[in-house]
Amino acid sequence: MRKVLLIYTGGTIGMVKDPKTGELKSFNFDYLYEHVPELERFQLELSSVSFKNPIDSSEMTLCHWVDLVEIIEKNYVKYDGFVILHGSDTMAFTSSALSFMLQGIRKPIVLTGSQLPIGTIRTDGKENLITAVEIAAAIDEFGEPIVQEVAVYFEYSLYRGNRCSKVSANQFEAFQSPNHPELAVAGVNIDYAKDKLYRTTKSSPSFTKKMSSSVGLLTIYPGIPITSYASLFDVRINKALVLASFGAGNAPSHPELQSLITNYIASGGIVLNVTQCNSGSVKQGAYHTSSFFQKSGVISGRDMTTEAALTKLQFLVANVTTSEEIISLLQVNIAGEISES
Ligand code: ASP
Repeated sequence: MRKVLLIYTGGTIGMVKDPKTGELKSFNFDYLYEHVPELERFQLELSSVSFKNPIDSSEMTLCHWVDLVEIIEKNYVKYDGFVILHGSDTMAFTSSALSFMLQGIRKPIVLTGSQLPIGTIRTDGKENLITAVEIAAAIDEFGEPIVQEVAVYFEYSLYRGNRCSKVSANQFEAFQSPNHPELAVAGVNIDYAKDKLYRTTKSSPSFTKKMSSSVGLLTIYPGIPITSYASLFDVRINKALVLASFGAGNAPSHPELQSLITNYIASGGIVLNVTQCNSGSVKQGAYHTSSFFQKSGVISGRDMTTEAALTKLQFLVANVTTSEEIISLLQVNIAGEISES
């Protein structure tokens, strides 16, 4: 019997409506089968563990990611796959972070959640949970797990964890992964895109429990009063900064912005340029408005999502000693987060 561990962190999926007050409350996970009796029909051994205090995923912190890594490390050998129940709001940040913290894994870690609580009639949570469990237990013809990476399952699609973003606050199709194909589509069968699945080259998994909070994120917008953001460019506060720029990596030719970046990089800061668009890639130097970045040593984040760029830096800043090494790792694929150029 395959063994799957469900890890409940909180979020809408694990909630039921209190019939008296109408409020959404987390249900006791010991009673999971009462809410999703279909799970009992799987031919597998399902166990569950819950965060002591389940949270709305807006409350997610770096410490919660470390807690998840600890739970997975403790149970990695014992279980064949893991399903993390998580609020959808920050799911793409958590899945990106875990992809870096759990490099070298050869087992599926599937995050899922829902737009409607599992205790409501039209919930999308049951299908999401049931299929996520099936994916976490799935093996190929050689008996190997089909998925060997951190992934997000939502509304009939399985996405690479560090390639997707939440795109809708109310549609059941809440996630998209425009720069990387879906890993699987669930219809009558679950069709896996076998050549798109990530395979590690590492010989053993690493369970990294350090992430740095000294990483900033600045979204450029027309008319930005850049001096009010000057503190972001202080290396004592932020060792690295993600710049979410326009289109193919463009920004206003603002002398203040340029001198903040120049001084920041000269004092050891690292700037990573990603696009605000939800698909496509940064191409520094394609337009005059991005050639400054190219000349000043800003790193192109190419087609990384903002979630992947931010968490990759949080991971690298905490775990890699030299800036040179961080800069070189930013430009290569370490967990399937960038398309080969
Ligand atoms: N606010 C909720 C959360 O992210 C929404 C959800 O569960 O989808 O925890």
